[in-house]
Amino acid sequence: MQDDGRSEEEKLEERLRTHRLKSDREFFAALSPQQQHLLSVKADPPEEERRRRKKREPEPKIKIYTCNHKYALPGTPIVRPKGGRFQDRDAENAYKGMYHCWKFFYELFKRDSLDNHGLVLKNSIHYGKRYGNAMWDGKQMIYGDGDGVTFKTFTADLDIIGHEITHGLIQFTANFAYEFQPGALNEAFSDIFGVLIKQRVLNENVKEADWLIGSSTMLGRKYALRSLKAPGTAYIGHPVWGDDPQPATMDGYMKLKFSDEDDWGGVHWNSGIPNYAFYVAAYDMGGYAWKKAGRIWYAALMEDLRYDSTFEEAKKFTILHARKIFGKGSLEEKAVIHGWRTAKI
Ligand SMILES: [Zn+2]
Repeated sequence: MQDDGRSEEEKLEERLRTHRLKSDREFFAALSPQQQHLLSVKADPPEEERRRRKKREPEPKIKIYTCNHKYALPGTPIVRPKGGRFQDRDAENAYKGMYHCWKFFYELFKRDSLDNHGLVLKNSIHYGKRYGNAMWDGKQMIYGDGDGVTFKTFTADLDIIGHEITHGLIQFTANFAYEFQPGALNEAFSDIFGVLIKQRVLNENVKEADWLIGSSTMLGRKYALRSLKAPGTAYIGHPVWGDDPQPATMDGYMKLKFSDEDDWGGVHWNSGIPNYAFYVAAYDMGGYAWKKAGRIWYAALMEDLRYDSTFEEAKKFTILHARKIFGKGSLEEKAVIHGWRTAKI
């Protein structure tokens, strides 16, 4: 394997920052709603605004900051000129990405931001030095510029922005633990809504869509971070990363330890299995994936799935909602059953 060109110090720094952000996310996710209010993670709209909002349609509240390649959050606010666009390409990408994410959940499900109370969507760009990640840290979005060898800027793909913001949505809803099967569901639901947000903006049906996560961010024409259509094929023979290890079916489930090196029980790897179940179900239904399959998965996430949910439970509740929304014996119910069966769950 080749080096990605960074010093040992830079790599360690990145690991340290990622570790700290992950513990922040866990800390915020474990707070009660009252405690979240105190730390202003949740929006607390004043009475007057609540009344005003009832009368008119809500709008997304998006804030962009730049860390200027330092690690202090959120950094310096930057303002989008009225009627114009940001000069900074990352600022514009983050702004537009957030706007599309907010519109997706509001127009399809009448959900006003992550907490359904108009939470302000904060975004910090140019985080750290060549930081190779994007993340929801429990309170806000963070985007690194990438190392320039394996990754370019993490604002380059709408599916990555959609993935990270869905982690925020999950924090306010099912709140899956970030380990083992619930952790893999956390990753899978984030991938699923990430690709759906992109497909809706591009107006792509199940056959037209590429079902890839991060195909622009990961440098090299043949490479992406993950594939929902064919888990385990997003990158093959990558000079730094080798081969995509994701299993598509349960017989390939990776039994791993709860540790950093083992990806907390393989949350980014085993997510290939529920990802594949969704893809097969959506493909069977045909048309636009967000209209039917997306609706079913959203209902299961909102109403039934919890902190310690397993793949089996995700299967049970998505079948249940397919039946509830589209009827017993419907094509949609059959598609969901077929999806999970194909993933061998
Ligand atoms: Zn993730």
